[in-house]
Amino acid sequence: MHIDIPPPGEARTIIPGLRWMRFPLPFPPSNVNVWLLEDGEGWLAIDAGINNDDTRGHWRTAIAGEAFGNRPLTGLLITHFHPDHAGLMGWLAAEHRLTPMMTRIEWLQARSLWFDTGAEMIEHQVEFARISGAPAEYGAFQRARGPLYQVSVAPLPRAFRAIADGDTLVIGGREWRVMTGQGHAPDMACLFCAEAKVLIAADQILPRITPYIGLHAGEPMADPLGAFLATLERFRVLPDDTLVLPSHGEPFTLLHRRLDALAAHHADRLGALEEACREPQTTHALLPALFRRPLDNRSLGFGLGETLAHLRRLEAMGRVERLPDADGVISWARI
Ligand SMILES: [Zn+2]
Repeated sequence: MHIDIPPPGEARTIIPGLRWMRFPLPFPPSNVNVWLLEDGEGWLAIDAGINNDDTRGHWRTAIAGEAFGNRPLTGLLITHFHPDHAGLMGWLAAEHRLTPMMTRIEWLQARSLWFDTGAEMIEHQVEFARISGAPAEYGAFQRARGPLYQVSVAPLPRAFRAIADGDTLVIGGREWRVMTGQGHAPDMACLFCAEAKVLIAADQILPRITPYIGLHAGEPMADPLGAFLATLERFRVLPDDTLVLPSHGEPFTLLHRRLDALAAHHADRLGALEEACREPQTTHALLPALFRRPLDNRSLGFGLGETLAHLRRLEAMGRVERLPDADGVISWARI
């Protein structure tokens, strides 16, 4: 199915009552999709985009123009807490007097991160990188950079409406089932409409890239890759010819082929990493097993998080073990 990509501030109809908007992002994956669902007199928006002047301008253009067709914004559902999705939630909610819908875990994650700005938080992140083998100068970079979340997320609303896995939302006369996914975010909301055979997939299933799966300092013993792979399995109950609407990239079908490709991609990375652990090495030293090019400081946190997510999966499967040295710096060894 081919649909022209909407320029920022415009919308394209996917099926009657469902429109696609796309906003640029100042970092990869370079754009984020927002879906508009017709709902009574107005539109319910799925996601808000990042907090910057450009995106606010595109929203104003869309709401005043052909994209909204003289209908108001009457609802807001945020799929997960990340800045490119939740960044303008507070601004839209305030301007349009909306109470956004979100899963409770994503809401609490957004609220707690937004207010956790102290030096102690940064030191916790510095320590997490240190025991992963990152050089000391990276710690200096982290301190100079400071907290990131507030920069691209506008002040959050004080109230929300909780949605949860298995809920049915009736939007514009259609039933949409909430299916939550884990791994990329703790409890990301996806929406499936059986009648229209459409899945609003958020970042859970993307067409060309695999979503970022990272282990974070706040939950160092989590297994986000295990959670992500388990979610892929749960989505296999959906029909293969479901039209998938991802948050990044273009709509696509052949869902099961994509689920297979994502699982195969991670199996491949796990194998490469396990092989690299023949000689015990720190997470930082293992980066070349997953990344072809050296990472600069701006992307090192993501690189360490992604490598750790794979190492934790291997550890949970009993294929590698952690060997801390006297300073707490962890090396990983194949079992
Ligand atoms: Zn995203």
